[in-house]
Amino acid sequence: MRRKPSRSEPAAGPVLQVHRSRTASVEGSSVRRALPHPLRRTVGAWCFLDHFGPAPVPAGTRSLDVAPHPHCGLATVTWLLQGQAVHRDSLGSVQPIRPGQLNWMSAGHGISHAEEGVLAQEDGAVHGVQLWVAQPEHTRHTAARFEHHAELPHLDLPGLHVSVLVGSCAGERSPARADTPLFAADVLVAQGSHGLPIDPDFEHALVVLEGAVQLEGTRVEPGELAYLGRRRRELVLTGAPEARVMVIGGEPLDEPLLMGWNFVVRDEDELEAAYRSWETDDGRFGTVNGARGERILPR
Ligand code: MN
Repeated sequence: MRRKPSRSEPAAGPVLQVHRSRTASVEGSSVRRALPHPLRRTVGAWCFLDHFGPAPVPAGTRSLDVAPHPHCGLATVTWLLQGQAVHRDSLGSVQPIRPGQLNWMSAGHGISHAEEGVLAQEDGAVHGVQLWVAQPEHTRHTAARFEHHAELPHLDLPGLHVSVLVGSCAGERSPARADTPLFAADVLVAQGSHGLPIDPDFEHALVVLEGAVQLEGTRVEPGELAYLGRRRRELVLTGAPEARVMVIGGEPLDEPLLMGWNFVVRDEDELEAAYRSWETDDGRFGTVNGARGERILPR
């Protein structure tokens, strides 16, 4: 059956819709997949959100190993709370990432990459978020690029410690470049109720990474996506008793998307072409040098 591209309508005003994430498997590890959800496919241009861990990484082992695979039409955004990995891609990037740093890879017409876990010297853990941003029509056919941001802006607001991954918050702007107006922040929430200023033109959602929060009297925990709608100037977060959350938002993307495997396209013909290019290794997605493991094949 040929699938059609789809989008979910942004709410006109503030709402609170809590959607259960589904459990998915990535290279044998279980993750909480908050986006896409049948009832909420995108939030701004964010179209994919996996929350993984915390999972133990015993000394002498490595986690986060993902063999070479392709992307097109999206940017991958990697954010770690614990653990470390090395990003390799077909542009030749070799970039270690640690907690507090941001990897932003725009696939455009095509790129391939691999993640390689770092051998743990002592018992540790891995915990993080993998997101995708759908690229709009005017950038999705362009050349791939990769950015690493070792330092991001942080701000302390009453009861909140905010790391700005993309976009801006209370005048602090992330250096990460997005193709459409976008926001993401990692927010530590202390006990009590605290207001996070947000852009009323954006739609927003959040996932809880640690602990729990109350939103308008509703408790939200890890494994749930709270969709918040639009026209909010402030998001009131109540630590229950304290929490770490990721808030995402952006201008609603007015383009229907078709997502298949690691590709974000607009129709089945484009999807088939992407699969074929990777399967025949015709050069569109390049080659990841120095990666462990065989290229991942979809079928
Ligand atoms: Mn990937």
